[in-house]
Amino acid sequence: MTVSSSTKTLCPYCGVGCGLEVTPAGKPSGEEKAMNPWQVRGDRTHPSSQGMVCVKGATVLESLDKDRLLYPMMRDSLAQPFHRCSWEEALERVCDRIQTVRAEYGANALCMYGSGQFQTEEYYVAQKLIKGCLGTNNFDANSRLCMSSAVAGYVQSLGSDGPPCCYDDLDLTDCAFLIGTNTAECHPIIFNRLRKHHKKNPNVRLIVVDPRCTTTAEAADLHLAIRPGTDIDLLNGIAHLLLRWGLIDQPFIDAHTSGFEAFAEVARHYPPERVAERCQISAAEVETAARYWGESQRVLSLWSMGINQSSEGTAKVRSIINLHLMTGMIGKPGAGPFSLTGQPNAMGGRETGGLSYLLPGYRSVTNPQHRAEVENYWGLPAGTIQPTPGRTAWEMITGLELGEVQFLWIAATNPVVSLPDLERTKAALRRSPFTVYQDCYYPTETSAYAHVLLPASQWGEETGTMTNSERRVTLCRKFRNPPGESRPDWEIFAEVGRRLGFTHQFAFQTAADVFAEFVQLTRGRPCDMSGLSHERLAAEGPLHWPCPISSLDSEADNPTTEEGERRKGKNSPRLYIDLHFPTPDGRARFAAHHSRGLAEPPDEAYPFILTTGRLYGHWHTQTRTGRIQKTSEMYDSPFIEIHPRDAEQLGIQEGELVEVRSRRGMARFPATVTKAIAPGTVFVPMHWGAMWADSAEANALTHHHACPDSGQPELKACAVQLAPVKPNDSQSLLQPSMMTSPISV
Ligand code: SF4
Repeated sequence: MTVSSSTKTLCPYCGVGCGLEVTPAGKPSGEEKAMNPWQVRGDRTHPSSQGMVCVKGATVLESLDKDRLLYPMMRDSLAQPFHRCSWEEALERVCDRIQTVRAEYGANALCMYGSGQFQTEEYYVAQKLIKGCLGTNNFDANSRLCMSSAVAGYVQSLGSDGPPCCYDDLDLTDCAFLIGTNTAECHPIIFNRLRKHHKKNPNVRLIVVDPRCTTTAEAADLHLAIRPGTDIDLLNGIAHLLLRWGLIDQPFIDAHTSGFEAFAEVARHYPPERVAERCQISAAEVETAARYWGESQRVLSLWSMGINQSSEGTAKVRSIINLHLMTGMIGKPGAGPFSLTGQPNAMGGRETGGLSYLLPGYRSVTNPQHRAEVENYWGLPAGTIQPTPGRTAWEMITGLELGEVQFLWIAATNPVVSLPDLERTKAALRRSPFTVYQDCYYPTETSAYAHVLLPASQWGEETGTMTNSERRVTLCRKFRNPPGESRPDWEIFAEVGRRLGFTHQFAFQTAADVFAEFVQLTRGRPCDMSGLSHERLAAEGPLHWPCPISSLDSEADNPTTEEGERRKGKNSPRLYIDLHFPTPDGRARFAAHHSRGLAEPPDEAYPFILTTGRLYGHWHTQTRTGRIQKTSEMYDSPFIEIHPRDAEQLGIQEGELVEVRSRRGMARFPATVTKAIAPGTVFVPMHWGAMWADSAEANALTHHHACPDSGQPELKACAVQLAPVKPNDSQSLLQPSMMTSPISV
């Protein structure tokens, strides 16, 4: 395939979803260009990013040809080296194994663990294969570690998943409330836009709630450095003051919500003095936050992993939404609860049913009508789709431990770095009777645990769609052919489906066919995308959902209203503008939650709280950014942030190695002594797996305890002890050590 003009696509990293434009580089004039025939820049026509990109988007081309998995490979046991095989041999072995396991152990011994890196089409075909044709709901994705608390919170409070806001709200708000998000580093283009609005308008307030003084917090008018695990105390404390001061929207509460009295009763127990003590901030700070919120006309809250990755993540999300409901801050420009997705297509995963309790079109496996609708549409016998949720990511690990999981297919994700309690995770994977690993890179930490490796194409090598945090769908176009024998993920899933006898269900010729089938399943659903197609997205550019097929009526004849636009089949930038919520009574629901605190609070033996996070320039487990010179050099080694008071007490000097132990494992990091972190709390980044540094895995320390509603593990906090490493123990542990051969297991 040759490229004669520019190709518009989407950045494959974070959920901001910045538009990119790839063009031929022209005649090589230097070593860099000679290596890469393309160049990339921000797409100025993309409405979400307007030409802006961060360092990750700007350097992504560099990773395309590094360490690619080019051919299928297999081996009989983890002790053996891989040998190259044909696609025919690899797929025959995979299909044989699926059939054998299904016959001997039942369908629920099969599992697939997918990824927010999938395009929507890939997610959809995987759901159809696993939940439809194979008859098990054991499909989960790494979105479980990322956004599942936001999903559960939206569903429980508003009646449906789906962030109600759009990026234009960043320019319209007069109070931005950022909690559990280091937006400046993790969603930089969103932060740039908000920062510009904040700088230009002195009356706009920026509140940041974070135990660390991050780059985001440095820009705030008010930084609340709360103790980890006290978010609900703070949120209820703000509610308490809004109630006390009468700064609530009673007509909105009366007309559009339920459950207010029970919530108000809970909030009465959170006076500022109590909140200040629990959060370890001052009562005046709590009062200032409540005053900023209460005096504003349009409050926009943003959150990310700091809220979601918690054993009470859903309750935290609902506590944020409570504040919006009590002040009527939803369904209008510049206001609303707005979760920021981590991965580029975590949203598409939600739309297609990419968690173990979901079905396409924001349906649930537990709803008999939803199951029947999907079975009918897929041409499958009634009762094929199981009525109970499948295994979460962590339950796949425990299933391996118990011998209940006999076949595990991992695609486009790297759980040997990203799952909690890594030693336990690795031990379980070593016991796996049969693991298929489908990825575009080799080696990764996870490839060492596989029996079969399937080479997938990646960004720029396949056409498909992705949905970003503001519900905007972009057609991501292919601009080069997949290298070697690699193939798009959806084609691999469809091929396996056909080989297992489901020829009719997987007769797709192109990704556009897949998308066309999928969007019809969203018709009439809250995430209605039935008016979208690859063709339309190519012609009109990225569009928001809901975007139904045109259903002209009197309202639609009025193009001046958002509702009119929506009903005409145009895309709507905001949800709930009619203040009607998709609950049985049309009302949003307050939640009455007291704070339960951390699943593993510090104690005498493990006196510090470890919190984890991400860094500008890095992406997840570095499978891509670790292979790009500029991004890998931005933070070239891991570290631990520790407050000067704690460092002095433990005798730790700046740069010295610190051994960190939890009840589950150990890691070592050089110390960064800084007041950016509160006393009693330490911070480590989550990006370093065994490929990039020795003994520096944050998740060697974390625990698996998860939110009971969302199943999302509390990756943000665990109890640890610290000790300086003695000089003769200070061997060179932390040099970046990218490996060129598989890691030994
Ligand atoms: S902000 Fe996110 S989507 Fe935008 S360029 Fe950076 S990594 Fe890519």
